[in-house]
Amino acid sequence: MRSFGVQTSTRSQCINITDQVQEAVQALGITDGVITVFTPHTTCAVTINENADPDVVGDILMQLEALAPWENAAYKHAGGNTAAHMKASLVGSSVQVIVTSGNLQLGMWQGIFLCEFDGPRIRHVWVQ
Ligand code: ZN
Repeated sequence: MRSFGVQTSTRSQCINITDQVQEAVQALGITDGVITVFTPHTTCAVTINENADPDVVGDILMQLEALAPWENAAYKHAGGNTAAHMKASLVGSSVQVIVTSGNLQLGMWQGIFLCEFDGPRIRHVWVQ
């Protein structure tokens, strides 16, 4: 297993981590198989989506906020960050990616993103 850290800079953002995952695959010496990319946190997530137009992940964050707003909701969680927990569960804590000849097999427009929902923080990503 390899891990790397990601410093986030705002409360909600999607950060492209494709290059770091590819580096982890090379460090692990994986040539062919399937990897899991997992984040061990309860208020961030990992997803695969479009890496060409940054408005796509911006729109996703906007609509997640509509589904789980920070303000004007009767949350009971004393931590005060239920909105972030909800978004993390909606998006999920891991993705799987096929590796062929040592390279991540992603579609032309796809990238792997760490989705921060309660930043800024230092987040960790595990690749196995
Ligand atoms: Zn909490």
